[in-house]
Amino acid sequence: MENKILDYRQVLSKLRRIENISSNIKREESIGYTTYKLPILHFTSGTGKNHIVLSASQHGCEIITTNFLLTVMERIAEDSKQFSFLKSNEYTLHFLPMINPEGYLISTSAIREIIKKDLSNEEAQKVYSNYVDLYNKDDEDVKIKLNTKFKRHQQFFGHIDPYVILGSKFKYIQKSLIKMYKENGIPEGTLAIWHSNGNGVDLNQNMPYNPKIQAIKEGKTLYSLLRYNNIETTKPGPIGCPMKGKEFEYELENKALFDFFLKLKNNKNIELCAYMNYHSTGGIVYYKPYKDVNDVVTENKMKYMDLEEVYNKKVAEVYANKAKYNIVNSESSLNCFNDLLRMQIPGNLLIELSKVPGNPLSPYLDDNYDKIIDDNLNALSYTLQKIPEMNRIKKEYIKARKEKMHDEER
Ligand SMILES: [Zn+2]
Repeated sequence: MENKILDYRQVLSKLRRIENISSNIKREESIGYTTYKLPILHFTSGTGKNHIVLSASQHGCEIITTNFLLTVMERIAEDSKQFSFLKSNEYTLHFLPMINPEGYLISTSAIREIIKKDLSNEEAQKVYSNYVDLYNKDDEDVKIKLNTKFKRHQQFFGHIDPYVILGSKFKYIQKSLIKMYKENGIPEGTLAIWHSNGNGVDLNQNMPYNPKIQAIKEGKTLYSLLRYNNIETTKPGPIGCPMKGKEFEYELENKALFDFFLKLKNNKNIELCAYMNYHSTGGIVYYKPYKDVNDVVTENKMKYMDLEEVYNKKVAEVYANKAKYNIVNSESSLNCFNDLLRMQIPGNLLIELSKVPGNPLSPYLDDNYDKIIDDNLNALSYTLQKIPEMNRIKKEYIKARKEKMHDEER
């Protein structure tokens, strides 16, 4: 049996296969293009009023999320029982299988130097466990405050540099990587854990309220956390950097997402019910913050916020209970790009798939992989079935409250 890792080209060909299976999955125009002209692909299923968006690989190296979304698409294309309830005209599902295609390309190109396409799954399993051991040891070092620049998990990929990956078709991304490694002091062996895009910007950190922006302007140097604590986050690189220049700007991938959601929101015939943004490791579900804690709001507006948060929480609970994931209930300030989207989109969850840490390989350990895929297929199917009803209750509640407030005013 082949190993389950899909490189960038394999994802593209798998998507072509899926859209050819049946008309259940339709290719739409890409929602935008990256700096280096890779498309941000978009597919839909159904034509119903209730719209639900699913996205993967916002962090390039969190590639299991793309495997998961492709599996969902495949099941729907094959008329699997699990999703037969979708046949009604109630739903439109949107699939964005790689919202950071450059990051996905970089990470999988490096992985392919070790896990070749034709490497059997059996052989690949040995490589994964070896890697996960090293990764855990790096975390233990940090726990006992052994602050070393030497990282075993990076050593594992240490011989792979931007010169050997990507090839001529992607030479501009390669050039950008070579420049970053040269100028920004990025440790060797970090291509496989490339969270960012081809500009070295971490798309979930690429938002204007990120405190790192001030630090960058003041010329400070900050580092990433845990096993990545030898990587600077105040310069473009593999993880954590919010912007590429001296002034903040959104990366093209994020602009495309803003535009995409704005179009859905402005369409009166569309009921935007949920957005599941899949990430790779943690086995947890985030649904907060819903509104900027610094927002100045009137009391009435506050009531709506509560209501929206109840809905968000409800959707999170339905999903997490089924997947047996924990929910993060603690308050959190607005600090990620996804949090910005959540200010505008109801039912937005950030879902961390694998309970075993060790990006990008740990999710592919046999027991772990099957469980991740199965549990999340179940959780997604179950949540999708509940969403129209939850949304209906929410709307009735809002309507009743509006009328009540109107009466009180008179
Ligand atoms: Zn992530």
